[in-house]
Amino acid sequence: MPHTPDRRGIVLILSSPSGAGKTTLTRMLLQNRELDLTLSISVTTRARRSSEVDGIHYSFISQKRFEAMRDSGDLLEWAEVHGNFYGTPRAPVDEILSEGRDALFDIDYQGTQQVRDKMGADTVTVFILPPSMKELRARLERRAEDTHDAIERRLDNARNEIQRWKSYDYVLVNDDLQKTFDDLIAILRSERQRRPRRMKGIEAFVARLLSE
Ligand code: ADP
Ligand code: 5GP
Repeated sequence: MPHTPDRRGIVLILSSPSGAGKTTLTRMLLQNRELDLTLSISVTTRARRSSEVDGIHYSFISQKRFEAMRDSGDLLEWAEVHGNFYGTPRAPVDEILSEGRDALFDIDYQGTQQVRDKMGADTVTVFILPPSMKELRARLERRAEDTHDAIERRLDNARNEIQRWKSYDYVLVNDDLQKTFDDLIAILRSERQRRPRRMKGIEAFVARLLSE
């Protein structure tokens, strides 16, 4: 039987400078089955890291294919980040939301702006900050997935990205990982209860309540 949604689905967007921890937090959110979040899998022209699986972390595609998807309107948003192209395929997101479920996006500030313009009230945006620039560098080096040049480029871009915090609904400093995760869960739980998202379900409930 199809699931009948009793509330509108949320697009939960996490952004941060590279290395602040959003991939780790995304993984923790997805592993918590009770939260029932579905990751929007981006397409990218970036080379796959050794720890990544095509179709799970990203769909790794050629620049030509990326341009074809972008030009035919298949992408909800797209941006060039650190010299590579990234984009969110539109169709899977439409499907998740039409089932009244919530989609999780790990995208940059440029993409966030585009999604907010298109989906307005259905978005909840969270910006993750590192506790210090020294720690940000240490995390990028510890992750050991990028070349020295790529790390320097990401650190240069971090200063620009960090300044975007003002356009987000929530800002978290990811010092203690478990605390940041707990805060994210609290945000998600509260946002799910907001009245405008639950009109249909509550209206039906109240009608039953008053008919008793
Ligand atoms: P991003 O996706 O933002 O680029 P990652 O999630 O890949 O960042 O995290 C970068 C590195 O920092 C990883 O090695 C991760 O294990 C580590 N990390 C993430 N959050 C914390 C934290 N709160 N404390 C210490 N290390 C962290
Ligand atoms: P990484 O190469 O470290 O996986 O990601 C680099 C940056 O690209 C991160 O800030 C990440 O959030 C962003 N990103 C990943 N996927 C998308 C996407 O589909 N759209 C946009 N706009 N940014 C993305």
